[in-house]
Amino acid sequence: MLKKGVKLYSILTGSCPKCHMESMYVERNPYRLVSLFKMHERCSHCGTKYKMEPSFFYGAMYVSYAVGIAFAVAAFVISFLIFGASLLQTFISIIGTLIVFLPVIIRLSRNIWINFFIHYDPSLLRKTHASQNAS
Ligand SMILES: [Zn+2]
Repeated sequence: MLKKGVKLYSILTGSCPKCHMESMYVERNPYRLVSLFKMHERCSHCGTKYKMEPSFFYGAMYVSYAVGIAFAVAAFVISFLIFGASLLQTFISIIGTLIVFLPVIIRLSRNIWINFFIHYDPSLLRKTHASQNAS
């Protein structure tokens, strides 16, 4: 279901938005907080520069607002509607969810943001395959 060539793949895995061949991040695990924001300068497969301009990823903050709301709504539905928690318990679970998932929310926002601007190029995958077959 989740395969290369679909934008969702790049968004969920944090892979290069252009070729989907490798992770944009130095450390794939977002919970290694020291390297949460550490990204490679360029994709070593297709040469795409991730940070297209200085402060490019500031725009991801707007996305993180929307992603955060999505997580909050999910926490609300699960605790209030499914488990029947009280309003206070629901509120606490929403705050807890946002704190626990903050690294994931930040990464997802960056992935979504960069995928607005850089689109998948299927020819890159074929090129890589061709060069692998040739060698
Ligand atoms: Zn790439």
